[in-house]
Amino acid sequence: MQSFNLVRANDSASAISAGAQSDTAQQGARVRFLAGGTTLVDLMKLGVEHPERVIDITRLPLADIRKEANGDLFIGATARNNDVAHHPLVAGGYAALSQALLAGASAQLRNAATTAGNLLQRTRCMYFRDLASPCNKRKPGAGCAAIGGANRMLAILGTSESCIATNPSDMAVAMMAYDAVVHVQGISAQGISVQGTSGAWQIPLKDFYVLPQDRPDIENVLKPGDLVTHVALPPRPAGERAFYLKLRDRASYEFALVSAAVAVTLAQGKIASARLALGGVGTRPWRVPEAEQVLVGQAPSEAAFRSAAEICLRGAQPQSQNGFKVELAKRCIIHALKHVTN
Ligand code: SF4
Repeated sequence: MQSFNLVRANDSASAISAGAQSDTAQQGARVRFLAGGTTLVDLMKLGVEHPERVIDITRLPLADIRKEANGDLFIGATARNNDVAHHPLVAGGYAALSQALLAGASAQLRNAATTAGNLLQRTRCMYFRDLASPCNKRKPGAGCAAIGGANRMLAILGTSESCIATNPSDMAVAMMAYDAVVHVQGISAQGISVQGTSGAWQIPLKDFYVLPQDRPDIENVLKPGDLVTHVALPPRPAGERAFYLKLRDRASYEFALVSAAVAVTLAQGKIASARLALGGVGTRPWRVPEAEQVLVGQAPSEAAFRSAAEICLRGAQPQSQNGFKVELAKRCIIHALKHVTN
């Protein structure tokens, strides 16, 4: 591991200031915030990440989980994944999020990993972690070993000629289905400003991740020094049933081949509202509002669910080894929807 400066931030302002002092165009790649470290430290040991400055934010008061006055669920950036999964407000009101977190990693990892770290975790593409392989995400312009290589686990939606890496998060898939909003503080002005709070703004999670296109090293809209402070989830409709279904190669902790987060309400035997997001298939957590809309007003049926699934997978571009994901994803959606409407 290369040497680096460790800065211990005592407040958000000093963390943001230290984080903004980046001398690179690569989204602050030379400066990293450290909380749980479950991704960052691994990648630093491998030499994939080599920041010059690491800013420890674990002293910041960002771990709260609470109900806001407007009904939103507030989940602090450094709230541990296990604490979120087992919190009564999450387990009781946002079941798919709790299930996604519990399916995401072992208890040891969940006890260390944080909400913001989970949102920002990097791909598990094996070539990304192997310095001997060409990888545009690790080194822009180097090429992509996965295209034509071992790509069974990789993405079929949102890919580009530069990168086909899958977003690895389970948590973000459930948050996408729940219309999560990421709250950020920093010095770059973007997103929707939070009224009365200088330097603070919010980014709907659907707009947070960017597709790889020709710069797969840029994975989200954050700029150097931007500090995620918390995630807000709007209140859920009464009677909503939700489920996170994760399909993987083995029953123990493993990254998803395909996953689906669904949340549905029924009224008089018909679907009144539907939320649907996919993991394991996209370069970012994948949500297709059109697929949700076709479900509304329909009685639950295999045919209706398959129609939605077909829309979700529209435009899929399988690679040499992962064509099976197209039908597997459709079946995952159908099964999850059956589960919440039975
Ligand atoms: Fe790198 Fe993306 Fe290609 Fe994997 S798929 S080798 S992360 S460029």
